[in-house]
Amino acid sequence: MKWEECRNMSVDKEKYFELQNELSLKGVVLIAVSKTKPAEDILELYELGQRDFGENYVQELLEKHSALPNDIRWHFIGHLQSNKVKYIAPFVQLIHGIDSLKVLREVEKQGQKVQRKIDVLLQVHIAREETKFGLDTKELDEVVQYLPGCNYLNIKGMMGMASLTEDLDQVQNEFKQLKLLYEKYRLLIPSFSILSMGMSSDYKIAVEQGSNMVRIGSLLFGERHY
Ligand SMILES: *Cc1c(COP(=O)(O)O)cnc(C)c1O
Repeated sequence: MKWEECRNMSVDKEKYFELQNELSLKGVVLIAVSKTKPAEDILELYELGQRDFGENYVQELLEKHSALPNDIRWHFIGHLQSNKVKYIAPFVQLIHGIDSLKVLREVEKQGQKVQRKIDVLLQVHIAREETKFGLDTKELDEVVQYLPGCNYLNIKGMMGMASLTEDLDQVQNEFKQLKLLYEKYRLLIPSFSILSMGMSSDYKIAVEQGSNMVRIGSLLFGERHY
């Protein structure tokens, strides 16, 4: 591919402003998902005022965190292995993908080490696909039991991913289901205020169903090439 073509495929600034307008009117926070994208692309959005960026891989996040401005708020949105928590604990803004009690315990432990209260979201499995990570209701209840002794954790809410399908009714139902769970657990966990759901292909449906944080990558940065 020629360089010029690559340039054209980088950040879509118009789309950014359009999205930002649409979302801020509804009080929805935009996380720009920059995984696999170079630092220059992130800086382009940064210069337009974007501060919340999402990454999926610990190593990549560490490199970008040290190379880019330090007022960027880094969201970890991928599957987090518990042995990697220590690397991001000193600076991460919000961990979206807590999908086991094991990793939650590790966040508490690492939070204590760095003397930082770490904000996290509980990832809930709502999709039909087996491959997606997340807690089931039994595990959610275990989390609730575990919380009273925690001093270095803030459970800010929930995150979920809908099935990858053309069936929009299915997607809508999955988001609806997550919103219901969110409301249920909000009564038990008073620090709940964030419902992170919706990506490039389904964020409109997610917002209609009550999302207040969306994670958008390809709409802003173009398709990812692995
Ligand atoms: C990659 C990713 C996104 C962004 O996906 P797009 O379809 O590019 O918007 C959002 N959430 C999670 C958890 C992701 O892994």
